Amino acid sequence: MKKEQFNLVLIATLASVIVLSAAWEFLFEDLVGLSVSGEHQPESMMVRLEYVISVTIFASLSLILPALIGYRLIEKHEQLTEKIKRISEEDYLTKLNNRRKIHGIIENEIHRSKRYNSTFAIILLDIDNFKTTNDSFGHNVGDQVLVQISEIIRKTIRESDIASRWGGEEFLVFCPHTNIDGAFALAEKLRTCIEKSEFEDVGYKTASFGVARVEHGDTVESMIARADEALYSAKNAGKNMVLAAG
Ligand code: GH3
Ligand code: MG
Ligand code: MG
Repeated sequence: MKKEQFNLVLIATLASVIVLSAAWEFLFEDLVGLSVSGEHQPESMMVRLEYVISVTIFASLSLILPALIGYRLIEKHEQLTEKIKRISEEDYLTKLNNRRKIHGIIENEIHRSKRYNSTFAIILLDIDNFKTTNDSFGHNVGDQVLVQISEIIRKTIRESDIASRWGGEEFLVFCPHTNIDGAFALAEKLRTCIEKSEFEDVGYKTASFGVARVEHGDTVESMIARADEALYSAKNAGKNMVLAAG
């Protein structure tokens, strides 16, 4: 339940108490009194009003504790929902968007690009010889490299671009309203930044990149497949390189 709905429940409860007490005082009390004793003395207007006001005050006070408990429970529930949403969309190690989240973003953007004839591009990045890093320095050091690379990506891309961890040592950057030249330039910037960065214990690392822009009739899979092919060609051509899908 949302806070607004809970407020409505509180207001409805209070309103019912007021209406019922007023109905009793002004409509039914005399009737019931008369039918029971046959000689009922009607109360003055002031006494009836006082009764309704006392009931209203009493009801309002008795609602304070349930209201406080209700707000606390709603807050806890909202925090939990937010946490579950974050966990389902975030990569646990790098805190970037995970594959599920970025897949949804690209899917939406493909629909938008069809509707508004807009363009966008993606960059797929794969760390070179990462297995060697793990084998030589251990998995924890490998993890730190992944975290540092995710920070480089975060710092280098524009605010409108969205970074994600696509899989093990692969990252995907979504670049809205960007043509292939723009995405290529960003990938080249990322490549240089990674190449120049020093990684604790490991030294220097490089990465290879495949860039693709959305094309007519694309699905998420077909678009990723083109970026992946370009990435594969970059690996085969010697790594530490950016290639665009043809
Ligand atoms: P290439 O240059 O061709 O990309 O070679 P590579 O060694 O980077 O690629 P390969 O696919 O052979 O190995 C990827 C490695 O990434 C193997 C896997 O253990 C490691 N890896 C995947 N996910 C994680 C992770 O979360 N943490 C760490 N430390 N390593 C990971
Ligand atoms: Mg890989
Ligand atoms: Mg690799």
